[in-house]
Amino acid sequence: MILKRGLIVLGLVFVILSVGWLWVPAVVESLVVERAAAGIYMLLKSAGLKTELPDAICDASEPTPSTTVLQDRVSPVVEVDTAPTPAATFDATRALGHIKYLSKTIGPRPAGGKNERLASYYIKDELDKLGLQTSIQKFTLPNGQHSYNVIGFLRGAGDKSIVLGAHFDSKGGPGANDNASGVGVLLESARVAAGGGEPPYSLYFIFFGAEERIGKNRNNHHFGSRHYVRNMTRAQAKMALAMVNVDMVGKGTELAVRSLRAKPGPFANDFLKLAKGLGLKSVYKQGKDDSDYEAFENAGIPSVWLQWRKDNSWHTPKDTFDRIGRTEIDATGKLVAAYLESL
Ligand SMILES: [Zn+2]
Repeated sequence: MILKRGLIVLGLVFVILSVGWLWVPAVVESLVVERAAAGIYMLLKSAGLKTELPDAICDASEPTPSTTVLQDRVSPVVEVDTAPTPAATFDATRALGHIKYLSKTIGPRPAGGKNERLASYYIKDELDKLGLQTSIQKFTLPNGQHSYNVIGFLRGAGDKSIVLGAHFDSKGGPGANDNASGVGVLLESARVAAGGGEPPYSLYFIFFGAEERIGKNRNNHHFGSRHYVRNMTRAQAKMALAMVNVDMVGKGTELAVRSLRAKPGPFANDFLKLAKGLGLKSVYKQGKDDSDYEAFENAGIPSVWLQWRKDNSWHTPKDTFDRIGRTEIDATGKLVAAYLESL
């Protein structure tokens, strides 16, 4: 009797172990698959691609799914999309993230100082992440300090090139509008450009150091852009078709297209037309040696300066992130995108 019971117990143990042996790898396997799928999802998400996370990944295997994963759960259906990735479009939220980082996390960025240097690292990192070819140009300021231009290059099909520029130094405050706003718009424009097909022309995204005036001399400014233009080779200058300067585009009621000319030239007219096509009311306004387009225009490269006007808090501690308007950022980004698409 005891022997019979013992055999039954042994039999049961054998059955349990056999089922367990088959079952354990199945569990392990599904865990691995689900973790891999979650990893791929997070990768696609961080690359800015819209994707869906299946319920199974949230509900099974992961004892404490991250809140991000839960928030982004859209549908329980897993759809494998074999269509080509849609071209990236300008995302004001991303641009605002850059503006916040530069003006709030880093803060005031006077030319030649530590914060200006930190901003240059941030910009270079962002361009590297996008896969642009990056380089740094170092130059000396009249006070002996150094500043830097950060350059992101995207090779195009032809020999010609377009320069898009924004300065990242600030004066008298955190410079959210003047000019983290321009940097944010251009970093996001670089992401859009890098995510599209090969552009017809090469694109130089140039982030200038030391645009603001140093000392009392009215001409002691635009150090980064002047240094860049002075150091362009003859061939580079000849191949540069145009320069788009983005400076102070986060606050205002009027979108101005500016250049040094009294009346808009053909290039400024292109922008006024593009703005109209987007339903944006824009005006032409003559500038006078007051932003980074100056050196390019003086070198014979057709240039425009895009600026939202008028911000009375520029060069003061009140030029803070909370005053930046999503509408202005979005409109500027869409105008730059429309220009690049029109090439
Ligand atoms: Zn500025």
